[in-house]
This record gives sequence, structure tokens and C-alpha cells, in this order.
Amino acid sequence: MRRIPIHNAKVSRVAPPVSSSVVYLFISRLGCTVTGVAIKPRGVPYHELAPEHMVITKLDGEIVEATFRPSSDLATHLEIYNNFPDAGGVPHTHSECATSWVQGQRPIPCLGTTHGDYFHGEIPGTNCLTPDEIAGDYEKNTGIVICRLLQNLDSKSVPAVLVAGHGPFCWGPTATAAAHKAVILESMARMAYYTVTLAGDVQPIASELHDKHFLRKHGHGAYHGQVKDK
Ligand SMILES: [Zn+2]
Repeated sequence: MRRIPIHNAKVSRVAPPVSSSVVYLFISRLGCTVTGVAIKPRGVPYHELAPEHMVITKLDGEIVEATFRPSSDLATHLEIYNNFPDAGGVPHTHSECATSWVQGQRPIPCLGTTHGDYFHGEIPGTNCLTPDEIAGDYEKNTGIVICRLLQNLDSKSVPAVLVAGHGPFCWGPTATAAAHKAVILESMARMAYYTVTLAGDVQPIASELHDKHFLRKHGHGAYHGQVKDK
């Protein structure tokens, strides 16, 4: 789901799935007045999904434009958007390798610079929802569990969490950036799985190496990439 301005909302492009296990969307529009969100409709297969199928809502969940009912995960996403105004897109997948770490209830450690290039720290996991949280407003409570975990973390440096017993949620400043994070997370989770399979006693890379790779690409001191003309 992506946060978008909702007046005259038009979802201009919905990309096809990039693989059978990682599905993501590109969403964009013109104009900008009021902020809302665009989310996938409930029960429409990804291979049939078209821009006009997307459901547009305000941040309180009020429907603005819709042909179909919104995804049942709407309340989870709204909780994240309302608590983290910088989130411009929140992909949620059940991608195989990332979800395997979720099901193992283990954070994904930083075992190499591929991880360090994108995430400044391990990918953390949430607590399990309590029976009352599951029996109550389950989708909203899933969002609350995510936001509770992020209270003590830098959500820009580690833009992903593993929701216990469920799957990963990522975010980014735009829908495209957020989708990219979901793809990278899955690739990283696969490499981490292979690594711990080959060497069960492997340790995370040194904090100096982790810092170097993350900070040269992100933040004020970033120097990676092409130098722009002044
Ligand atoms: Zn899910």
C-alpha cells in the first residue's frame, strides 16, 4: 500500500509480480492536496490487478474511490502510516525466505555488506500477538505491534520488521523505494539462510564494516554513487 494524495487520485501503473514469492506494486498519481492511501482490493488476483481496481482511502480508513472492498490488511497499514508520516509505501509479503526467518522467530543478522548497504542493523522481529489482540481488532493490533517495536528504533535506518508468525513488512519514502526494500529483504534473507546453513556459528560482520557500508550510501556523509554537477 502507498500513501498518496487523494483528490483526483489516479493510479497510473501497477507492475506485474516480480516473482512468485515477492509481489509488489508501483503506484503514482498527479496533483497533491490531501493525503490518503491506495491499497490493493480484497480477493483480486495479482495477475488480474489493474490501476482502476485500487482502493483509495483517507488516513482514517474512509473510502474515497473504490470499486471493490479494500484488502483486509488496511487497518495494519493505516496504523503504520499514521505513526510514521515519512512512510510513502508499505509492501507486505509472505516471501519465502524472509518469512522463514519470521517463522523461526529469529531476527535476520547482518552477515555481509549486502545487508549493510541497505539496513543499518539486524532486521528485528515483533512480539507475538496476545490471544486478546488476535481475538480483538487483529489487523489494527498487528499494526500496533509493529509500531510498538519501532518506537525504540530508527525506522529509516532499518526499514523492515518481521511480524512474529506472519511475515515481513517494509517501508520507504516512495512506493518504488519501498518495493525495492522488499525485494532486497528477500534476497538478503536467502543469503543469510544459506550462510547459517553452511556455517552455523557465523557471527555478524564487524560494526565498523557495517557502518562503513551503510553510511557511505545513506545520510549526510554519503559519498557512494555518481557526483552530481553543482
Ligand atoms: Zn500477511
